[in-house]
Amino acid sequence: MPLRFFNTYSRQLEDFEPRDPAERKIGIYTCGPTVYSRAHIGNFRAYIFEDLLQRHLELRGYKVHRVMNITDVDDKTIRGAREAGIPLTKFTAQFKEAFFEDIEILRIKRADEFPAATDQRHIVRMIEMIATLVSRSLAYQADDKSVYFRINKFPDYGKLAHFDLTHLQSTGRVKHDEYDKEHIGDFALWKAWDEEDGDVGWESPWGRGRPGWHIECSAMATALLGEQIDIHCGGVDNIFPHHEAEIAQTEGVTGKKFVRYWLHCAHLLVDGQKMSKSLGNFYTLPNLLEKGYTGREIRYALMRVHYCAPLNFTWDGMEEARQALARIDEWLARLRETAGGKIDLRKLDLQIGEQFEEALDDDLNISAALGFLFETIRATNRAIDDGALDSAAARAWLNWWEEINTVLAMEADEAARPEEINAMMDARAAARLAKDWRRSDQLRDELKAHGWEVRDTKDGQKVTRRTGS
Ligand code: AMP
Ligand code: ZN
Repeated sequence: MPLRFFNTYSRQLEDFEPRDPAERKIGIYTCGPTVYSRAHIGNFRAYIFEDLLQRHLELRGYKVHRVMNITDVDDKTIRGAREAGIPLTKFTAQFKEAFFEDIEILRIKRADEFPAATDQRHIVRMIEMIATLVSRSLAYQADDKSVYFRINKFPDYGKLAHFDLTHLQSTGRVKHDEYDKEHIGDFALWKAWDEEDGDVGWESPWGRGRPGWHIECSAMATALLGEQIDIHCGGVDNIFPHHEAEIAQTEGVTGKKFVRYWLHCAHLLVDGQKMSKSLGNFYTLPNLLEKGYTGREIRYALMRVHYCAPLNFTWDGMEEARQALARIDEWLARLRETAGGKIDLRKLDLQIGEQFEEALDDDLNISAALGFLFETIRATNRAIDDGALDSAAARAWLNWWEEINTVLAMEADEAARPEEINAMMDARAAARLAKDWRRSDQLRDELKAHGWEVRDTKDGQKVTRRTGS
């Protein structure tokens, strides 16, 4: 079955055909954080879905080049810096740093590039794009000196959000006098400087000012990924106006279709409402770590439901995540014990467990994929109980786990080693100090029997989980 995704643009499941099928290279653009406060776990639901997408495409042999922008200048960041009484760059730096810490704990692969909106070369490109739009009458400078996109000049405006503009047109101009804009739906490309902006601003053909949020993404996406990109992602709240505006601006400049597949992640909810800063119903990653949950438990809790379905955040959900991972850990330990022996996994050509990958081919159906994993766990555990799983089969399943774990990234941390293993390592270190090599070897074998491989390095012993071979 080919890979397929639900494309917001067509509102249909579509077979995935990348721009450059022969090279198998894919460009993905994902809207990143606005660094005015620490991201909440709702934001991370979106980033984890994007991580799943990238990892699965890689498992299927694609070379993914992913760009995630950092919005480090907008109304919220400027307000935050002003209130904190520090320069904008200093204000945003702390949240950038927190963001990178959080994605590491959540095992989210780093994008290949994290362009910042305030990077001079991107500002130059934003200004160039706006100038092109103005020259084509797709944009205009209003009396307030800001530059706006003229949505009436772009017939496709509203196609992504499936939005009927006639409604806006009939009611939008009632209070026309109050607006500097020609149309209520026209959005800012360049915001004229005002006192609240303080020392934040860049010179442009339209005077001092700063870019609008939407043009930031159009400029950075095309600068780093070219005029057409394979996949563009974000949360559903990004569809309108942000992504709609990105299409209008980019296609208005290039005259080419901007994005082949638009994928949007449904929201993380709390009591039926979107988790958001403005509602105050949010948790950050440190909030959950303080409650004793680990990064991988939070990752599991945020990943386990299909990205198109809203996901309710609950403490029961967190407990379920904990139990699910404990079952996986226990299963892996049993498989490792059963595997024993010395069969080289790479010589076994077993076609097993393909349903997992196939479920993900089908619009990243993670719930079906995890369902298959837990069915497998039940079946193999039963076989181990019955003495019906030989070491070759155990190793084949471990090998399969290795593969699917490149997508899940849910193996227990080495730092979270069981106490029993730590105790054996300590005993072995003591035996080595006493030059009791027999005891040291005996402990090495015991560790091995528990599924841990020990190596002696110049920095002391190192243990790793054994993964077959
Ligand atoms: P922001 O920093 O607000 O621009 O959001 C960054 C990303 O998080 C965007 O892709 C949003 O669509 C996404 N996002 C924000 N809130 C939620 C939520 N409650 N659930 C899922 N995604 C969200
Ligand atoms: Zn964006």
